Amino acid sequence: MLNKMIAHTLSLLPEELIWYFSKTYIAGESVADAIRVSRELNNNGARVTVDLLGEFITDIEMAATYREAYLDLIDQFAASPARGNYSLKPTMFGLLIDPDKCYAAVRRIVQAAAERDSFVRIDMEDSQCVDLELELFNRLKVEFPTNLGLVLQAYLKRTPHDLERLRRNHNAKEAPLNFRLCKGIYVEPPELAFQDMSKINRAFIENLDFMLNNGMYVGIATHDRHLIEQAERLISHYGAGTDQYEFQMLYGVTPRLRQRIIASGHKMRVYVPFGANWFGYATRRLKENPTLVKHLLRALLIKG
Ligand SMILES: Cc1cc2nc3c(=O)[nH]c(=O)nc-3n(C[C@H](O)[C@H](O)[C@H](O)COP(=O)(O)OP(=O)(O)OC[C@H]3O[C@@H](n4cnc5c(N)ncnc54)[C@H](O)[C@@H]3O)c2cc1C
Repeated sequence: MLNKMIAHTLSLLPEELIWYFSKTYIAGESVADAIRVSRELNNNGARVTVDLLGEFITDIEMAATYREAYLDLIDQFAASPARGNYSLKPTMFGLLIDPDKCYAAVRRIVQAAAERDSFVRIDMEDSQCVDLELELFNRLKVEFPTNLGLVLQAYLKRTPHDLERLRRNHNAKEAPLNFRLCKGIYVEPPELAFQDMSKINRAFIENLDFMLNNGMYVGIATHDRHLIEQAERLISHYGAGTDQYEFQMLYGVTPRLRQRIIASGHKMRVYVPFGANWFGYATRRLKENPTLVKHLLRALLIKG
């Protein structure tokens, strides 16, 4: 209900106003902005994963444009003093239009990262993409065993089965599986995804337990204090070292909590999105931020 109200409010606001609220979550529009913000985060003890914004293309010609933009990002970032790796969304390369073209584009990007001893994580998008993104990961992981990771979403009821299949299909001795575990952000039907936050949280901890217990590397991606405390208990229980896990947060979200986690000796990676196509990502973040609702409503009243 609240989400619908915010979505409706956002659709009525001018883009400049949405940008005003969104800019805390986005490094800027250029690679230079991404590098600048990454450097600041590095200086505060955080690693980064940089993401060029864009998703769900409808014209397959755009896949080549975005591939070149990512290759340019990798070139510039590797030559800069900033340190970090990369995240990408496969629908930006035509996953839902032409999976083979998408595979070729993502493969080229992972290859460029691997040549620089870096790493690419495939973000997980909505449920229509999950099988295709698992397939993409499985194909590329064979060729780039140490340079590729995937995101899994705790709210999806299928995730424990996917995890079990991934465990069986990949040789962990060759290179550990490397996942980011998050709650999941897309609106999904109850047949596919838990709707109740306590069930999502329970699933998150069960998935995390499975990953740590099976020698998988995990990026624990949450700002939820309660989940972070439970994760810390599991880390102690398994005696997991910092070569087995890291915490991850989004740029602009709970920076004080982030610094506390770094100060307590954990590895922390911040997801740094940038680029001209910020609107879809920004509105997802705004919908998650309860304190922004009243500002948005006030802005709307002033505009009206
Ligand atoms: C590094 C990273 C990568 C991600 N990648 C993906 C992905 O590939 N696919 C996917 O589906 N989802 C992804 N997500 C999003 C994720 O699924 C959640 O929607 C998001 O992280 C919010 O969930 P939470 O665990 O922080 O818990 P919540 O219960 O949503 O939030 C916990 C607390 O964090 C604070 N908070 C959270 N969001 C905001 C915000 N926008 N502004 C201000 N405060 C906020 C609030 O205090 C809130 O009470 C990613 C998240 C992170 C951290």
